[in-house]
Amino acid sequence: MADAQRIATRPFAQARLHQALLARSSLWAVCRCGQEAQIDPANWLGQGLRRQPLGALETRLRCQCGARQARLEIRGLSEAPAGPTGGIHVFR
Ligand SMILES: [Zn+2]
Repeated sequence: MADAQRIATRPFAQARLHQALLARSSLWAVCRCGQEAQIDPANWLGQGLRRQPLGALETRLRCQCGARQARLEIRGLSEAPAGPTGGIHVFR
């Protein structure tokens, strides 16, 4: 499957949602348009998705540019971007 290969080559696709909950970690979405936003996983946790791989959650994001997918990453506190962020939200 081309899709599976694409996910396998990406560093965070196999990480699971609960890994973003560790102390000093945060969950970020990055869209192809360049938008970056911190994501609050509360909605997904409420759906019992804490063991889902991040790659399986990316199509649940919506960006203000109209994209229906954004790349998810787990970042440490020091890795937050300096510029303005936002514009990507959990759709379901
Ligand atoms: Zn976008």
